[in-house]
Amino acid sequence: METDNAALTARARAVMPGGLLSPSRQLAHPYVFVRAAGPYLYDADGNEHVDYHCGFGANMLGHCAAAVRDRVTAVSERIDLIGAAALDLEIEAAETLVRLIPCADQVAFCSSGSEATYHALRLARAATGRRTVIKFQGGYHGWHDYVAMNVQSPADRIGQYDPVCDGILLDAARHTVVLPYNDAQAAEDYLSAHPGEVAAVIIEPIAHNMGSVIAHDAFLRDLRRLTADHGTVLIFDEVITGFRHALGGYQSIVGVTPDLATFGKAVASGHPVGILAGRADLMERLGRTGEGAVFMGGTFNGTPPSLAALLATIGELERPGTYGRLFALGDRMRTGLSAIVERLGIPAQSAGYGSVWLLYFFQGAFERYEDLLRNDNAADLAFRRRLVEQRFIFQPLPLKRLYLSTAHDEALIDRTLDAIAETLHALRPA
Ligand code: PMP
Repeated sequence: METDNAALTARARAVMPGGLLSPSRQLAHPYVFVRAAGPYLYDADGNEHVDYHCGFGANMLGHCAAAVRDRVTAVSERIDLIGAAALDLEIEAAETLVRLIPCADQVAFCSSGSEATYHALRLARAATGRRTVIKFQGGYHGWHDYVAMNVQSPADRIGQYDPVCDGILLDAARHTVVLPYNDAQAAEDYLSAHPGEVAAVIIEPIAHNMGSVIAHDAFLRDLRRLTADHGTVLIFDEVITGFRHALGGYQSIVGVTPDLATFGKAVASGHPVGILAGRADLMERLGRTGEGAVFMGGTFNGTPPSLAALLATIGELERPGTYGRLFALGDRMRTGLSAIVERLGIPAQSAGYGSVWLLYFFQGAFERYEDLLRNDNAADLAFRRRLVEQRFIFQPLPLKRLYLSTAHDEALIDRTLDAIAETLHALRPA
């Protein structure tokens, strides 16, 4: 059977929708990957690619990191899925997270970020006896019906219900209110006009699903005060920011402690882990039966290989200097990008935070989703396609964030910047 990129792509298209799931997994080029190591991916034709996709941000230590692989292997030789009761490994992982995450009196494990946000919202609704939840335009919190709306909305859908696809149950979605990011007044107005109705506010404290729109510290502080005043549960969705920017999440950087927080992605180097963390009086409902209990099911919650990967990842991230180096690498990329667009006179700007980076194809401030409507999506897409052609793996969709891992280094970044400069030069309108 043929096993090159083209033959494998044809086989994939026959047996999986679109050749593989979801447009965000479809590169503009028919590469099929067969191996990964550090910052590199290898396709079926034997080509080497530099990875800036990093498994949607989960591969924070580079691919197939030895520390993770060794711990997962050792644990897999000792124990597998039990389900019947707590595991020693689970207790160690939970104690580690409670030590690191400011809002975490207790934690619960699931298998993905979407599950974590689903359970956070269910818990908030149960605890408050209210139905409405607030999310922000441009924020992404997973695929489920409570939140799968108003992510990359076209201009004419902002301010109204904009589901990500057909099939979403309007009865579930109608209780989610969408407000503009970084606008405390809008949140205050809504909460004041609907006293006793809002169960939760869920927010990405850095909106990396808009590329990299950073919440003003004052906005997060205002949300903290407003939600406390209104008896509303404040949820930080740290599925991207958690462990990528700090071991205690962005909440430990900004100094605002939510009631609940969700984590996933980078915490387990590509193994499926979702975490719900929060205040004891909320979390303890998950362990109750009868009155006030909240059900958090899941056969694969806290599997031993995932927990082993989590503990190994945190062990690596706790090494002194890790975050300083990641932030320095991110700064090198951003500074290099700024110099390139300035030199070429391209109406674009570098953005990002820590090890997350991207180029916006517009100039001027960006504080909320509405500002990103100025992005030249055609130029953004053309740029990404050209880089993918040259074997730099970027998500092939406009405005999508890119990542660095601890396996990337200065030389690789400089090589990438050279390719970016040449690409932008070639794409410049004559
Ligand atoms: N929240 C945020 C902020 C995310 O970025 C994502 C995934 N991109 C999710 C939740 C959902 O996580 P998962 O894909 O693991 O279900």
